[in-house]
Amino acid sequence: MFKKVLIANRGEIALRIMRACRDLGIKTVSVYSEADRAAKHVRLSDESVCIGPAAAKDSYLNISRIVTAAEVSGADAIHPGYGFLSENAEFARIVEEHGITFIGPSPQIIDIMGDKGRAKACIKNAGVPVVPGDNTATRSLSDVLRAAKVCGYPAIIKAVAGGGGRGMAVVQSEEEVRTAFPVLQKEAMRAFGSDDVIVEKFIENPRHIELQFVADKHGNAVCLWERECSLQRRNQKVFEEAPSSALTEKEREKIVKTTTSALKKIGYTNVGTVEYLYKNKEFYFIEMNTRLQVEHPVTEMITGVDIVRTQLMVASGYHLEINQKDLALNGVAFEARINAEKPKTFTPTPGKITAFHAPGGYGVRVDTGVYSGVDISPHYDSMIAKLIVHAPNRKEAILRLKRALSEMVVEGRGVETTIPLFQDLLENKDVIEGDYHINWLENFLKNNS
Ligand code: ADP
Repeated sequence: MFKKVLIANRGEIALRIMRACRDLGIKTVSVYSEADRAAKHVRLSDESVCIGPAAAKDSYLNISRIVTAAEVSGADAIHPGYGFLSENAEFARIVEEHGITFIGPSPQIIDIMGDKGRAKACIKNAGVPVVPGDNTATRSLSDVLRAAKVCGYPAIIKAVAGGGGRGMAVVQSEEEVRTAFPVLQKEAMRAFGSDDVIVEKFIENPRHIELQFVADKHGNAVCLWERECSLQRRNQKVFEEAPSSALTEKEREKIVKTTTSALKKIGYTNVGTVEYLYKNKEFYFIEMNTRLQVEHPVTEMITGVDIVRTQLMVASGYHLEINQKDLALNGVAFEARINAEKPKTFTPTPGKITAFHAPGGYGVRVDTGVYSGVDISPHYDSMIAKLIVHAPNRKEAILRLKRALSEMVVEGRGVETTIPLFQDLLENKDVIEGDYHINWLENFLKNNS
């Protein structure tokens, strides 16, 4: 087992990883920017290293400073968390070249899965159903027009290197391709350093259902069932649940089997999430995330598996301790992302938190790095807490989440949160029944503005 792990992240996820390390008797090194001097992850780690100014590009995204911090502190592994460098194959490669374990899949796999076209081709080859389209990356308008015509309209043009819900354009006609494609290319080049795109069929109003995996270095992989993440705004998740209320046991079993066998074929290791769109009982692969996900706790609640602990163990060479056939699916879990944002427009509201009280009680878990007196920096993501509830069924989980939201207090000058949005959502019939798709929330917000 590792002796000392450097956590190349901040906020709630840095704490989550630190806690798993502590539970395994591993020492932790945190890194922080000048804006995070007073952050909880710095206070609670065994050692900490300042890696630069507030701007992420000068600190949490600075590979050489992070690797140097690991070398100086004698860490034998680096956990990247999510976001920042977590899906950066070059980072993983450099870490390994320094004789330090990167806690994640191999750089080769990260490379393939970081390219939406190559990922789809690889997964399709391994027997998984993918969104129909042309998976060959291109920069040419005529290729895009040809591919869109084959898929049929509406189609979606995606930057192969895109992420975070950005670098995509839905097109209804040839004319729209001609206007949208150059704009998308420019935006993709600026944001992701590549203007290669793929074209695929735009699936109208599907659900977003994803499968959580853990695989060891000895050819074993288990699927920790699915999460439903259909409540999104601007293609980003806002609320997640596990399991999906849309799937029958038979459907679940089938997609789990197909995907597990594909990941074994590919030789995938560590944790990963396979994302699907689901419509009319069909699954369509969209992408694979080669890292720990924000929403991993809902899976932990329904399986009883500590995903980060398992991730640390398989990264250090242990065999998986869990078997697919022994994995029970227990109850229902929800996660509400509490963001420091205006609840209707999602405009970030950074500022000093003057009062913070987390809810508690049976079946309630709060993952956060926030406390009274901390500054929410405009430099980073506006998610300040994850409120997770677990109950025997959906009905009770809804009541529990309502109860927890009513106990939660976040106050600060100018700081608003998404708490009122969740309170509204939990009164809605579609949400109560789990009857939604990826555009449902945007429609709800439009109708309630
Ligand atoms: P990112 O890497 O930016 O997260 P994804 O490919 O995972 O991009 O897509 C993000 C979201 O965009 C999906 O959850 C879904 O809401 C929407 N989306 C992506 N591909 C399609 C498609 N072919 N049809 C309809 N919606 C799509």
